[in-house]
Amino acid sequence: MLLNIPFELENYIGGTYRKPLSGALIDNINPATGEVYGKIPNSNEKDVDLAVEAAKIAFTSWSQTPAETRFKILNKIAELIDENLDALALAETNDNGKPLWLSKQTDIPRASSNFRFFATASMQFASESHAGENNSINYTLRQPIGVVGCISPWNLPLYLFTWKIAPALAAGNCVIAKPSEVTPVTAYLLAKICEEAGLPAGVLNILHGDGPSCGEAIVKHPDIKAISFTGSTRAGQSIASIAAPMFKKLSLELGGKNPTIIFSDCDWNKMLDTVIRSSFSNQGQICLCGSRILIEASVYEKFKNDFIERVKQLTVGDPLDSESRQGAVVSKVHFDKVMSCIELAKKEGGEILLGGHAVTPAGRCEKGYFIAPTIIENLGPNCKTNTEEIFGPVVTLQPFNSVEKALSLANASAYGLASSIWTQDISKANYLAAKVETGIVWINTWMNRDLRTPFGGMKNSGVGREGGWEAMRFFTEAKNVCFSF
Ligand code: NAD
Repeated sequence: MLLNIPFELENYIGGTYRKPLSGALIDNINPATGEVYGKIPNSNEKDVDLAVEAAKIAFTSWSQTPAETRFKILNKIAELIDENLDALALAETNDNGKPLWLSKQTDIPRASSNFRFFATASMQFASESHAGENNSINYTLRQPIGVVGCISPWNLPLYLFTWKIAPALAAGNCVIAKPSEVTPVTAYLLAKICEEAGLPAGVLNILHGDGPSCGEAIVKHPDIKAISFTGSTRAGQSIASIAAPMFKKLSLELGGKNPTIIFSDCDWNKMLDTVIRSSFSNQGQICLCGSRILIEASVYEKFKNDFIERVKQLTVGDPLDSESRQGAVVSKVHFDKVMSCIELAKKEGGEILLGGHAVTPAGRCEKGYFIAPTIIENLGPNCKTNTEEIFGPVVTLQPFNSVEKALSLANASAYGLASSIWTQDISKANYLAAKVETGIVWINTWMNRDLRTPFGGMKNSGVGREGGWEAMRFFTEAKNVCFSF
């Protein structure tokens, strides 16, 4: 199939492509060039109403569709994503600014894995039964919820969009999904793929628009019974304040300020290779990136020198150039935010060891939003730089002298998404893993993902878990049936 991207994207509602009822459009900008290269609908509650009506009609049959049929359609979507890898990767890079090799290696393959994984989950998901005492048996029905809302961010656009949609569909729900208004194109193309794969009209509805207009309308709609959201902690708070009094099921995957804890006894080369990635992959715009690097004092200077030497080699440039290790950050607004965080770090007494400035590549990217990978030291755990999420190519270094000090620095955060621990001492690693306040702990690795594991954060990083059965349970209503014989 040929995936064409029109200048003006449309919503996908009830199997047809529709302009927003209000006619309002938003510019779509390529962050590597600063050019407006498309328009997208800024949908509102009227468009959401239409989509919900279509989804309610489709639910009657989709919820009754045999698991094997759901499996075949979702698996076909995965196959079509694979077949269209090049077109989807290019679209992702043009929307987001990430290097094309990264979109090809990570973002798009993971989107197809999400569909493939949850296609099989629809065949395997089973309910529990408890052969009971007193001549009774309990069993649990896990029934689809109905119409659910999925709202995703711009940093891993198709990757995170499909991570929500695939389990929701696999469990038999119909979906109203909204990608980030900053990176809408691959979501638009996904509609074309779903159509080709034979997903019935109305089962998946894709609406475009910003948070206040389209996102909030999804959250507020009384017939949307569950919201799966990934994005900032601030938006998560606002969503919870609307959805909780309506008793909606909520899954919130929010911000992070993740610690990377490095001990002198780690496998140094493996650690260094990985910490370069955990710090700066996707320009530091992955919720799992380790932005606070904590280093045992005895190897602090060695780490600092080795790390700076390696980070200097991360070429910043045109995302379409295979030599670029770092592309553009996602938007002008985000560029300004990250640059202001760097200025704040200086005011707080931080010493910039590397970077700290914008980069202007020659040629087509001279108006793009590029920032040099930035390393900062000399800041304590309680300053804003070390407590607030920056979500860009910026890390800080802090030394520690003992396991307990490493733990207190790691936990000195209102966030609790992920941590990574580097040591060959398995007792120390497992002690820390039990004590560190994060939903995900990596020992001697980072972003090593198995889709069966529970994924999510503690504290201000969110509520609930995605992945594997956790996602299938979230997208179903458990009903206990007890009978006596
Ligand atoms: P964002 O919160 O601004 O937007 C996320 C999505 O929510 C977008 O689609 C947006 O339009 C929508 N939205 C915004 N306000 C809304 C509202 N009031 N009601 C409903 N929808 C609303 O986040 P972002 O800037 O797109 O993404 C970056 C953030 O996402 C970072 O904080 C990052 O840590 C977080 N993130 C978390 C995870 C995770 O798994 N925990 C993964 C990726 C990104």
